[in-house]
Amino acid sequence: MFMRIDKLQTELPAPKKKDPNAAAALQELLGGKYGEMSTLGNYMFQSFNFRSKDKLRPFYDLVASITAEEIGHVELVSNGVAMLNNGPDNDGDEADGGDISDAPYNAMQDIRLAAAFLSNGGGATPVNSNGAPWNNDFITTTGNVVTDLLHNFHLECGARLHKLRVYETLSDPTGREVCGYLLVRGSVHAHAYALALKQITGVEIEKMLPTPNINLSNIPECQKYLQEGSHRRLYTFSPADYRGMSGLWGNGEMALPGDPPGELEVVEGMPEGGKIHQLTGVPSAFTPDYAPEEMFEIATKLYKASR
Ligand code: MN
Ligand code: MN
Repeated sequence: MFMRIDKLQTELPAPKKKDPNAAAALQELLGGKYGEMSTLGNYMFQSFNFRSKDKLRPFYDLVASITAEEIGHVELVSNGVAMLNNGPDNDGDEADGGDISDAPYNAMQDIRLAAAFLSNGGGATPVNSNGAPWNNDFITTTGNVVTDLLHNFHLECGARLHKLRVYETLSDPTGREVCGYLLVRGSVHAHAYALALKQITGVEIEKMLPTPNINLSNIPECQKYLQEGSHRRLYTFSPADYRGMSGLWGNGEMALPGDPPGELEVVEGMPEGGKIHQLTGVPSAFTPDYAPEEMFEIATKLYKASR
């Protein structure tokens, strides 16, 4: 089963301006073939379908715990998309007078993912940067442990490639931070699947890393995560379970040669994380409604009653 914590896995800086086209580019990391919906879907169903779980504990624990991290990545990218559509943080909701007669969203005709505003009110959905829906064909769950791990290694390398390209399209701090954090975490996952494959097959596939062949030290947004050692950590995302993966991630294995040196470690629980930014209510976009005052009043009463 899953537990939910009302935080993001890392702190995101607020956008400097509203930028729906940057949000569209970031959608590739959510609903693209190699996006977070794909890593989540692959590892989640592989972990559900895993045969001989008890006998293969370290391998099952690895796929199961990374599943939990990936749903947090889906949440992180989705928040990044919505934040870019929302614009800078502010202290409250907009009071735009609610005049809808003069085409207040005329400019939205020209954004690349018009449906992100027209249907989703500036929110994220599992589509790629062109609006094509994410789908089940991006999931591989064969029941063969080596084939699945090899697929996962390929998936993390593909994801790294797409993150690097999306990063190169972005100038705003929010989207770049999403990419920087996920590049470090995705590199951990590629490394972890490589070490798992090495234990079973003897093939030192980790020597192919990093793919693409650019070190994280070249990316400014990755630096603080490298300094704190995130590239050496796998989290269990559980109070007591999934510790068995420390036989794979640990056990004398070290950080990749291009990254700050040190031993790999399994951390029980989850990263400290960062706050979820408030998204602005906008009457003319009917978010959360055209005239939400009564709704706010009801919610305030309910919240007080819960204390
Ligand atoms: Mn991910
Ligand atoms: Mn990953």
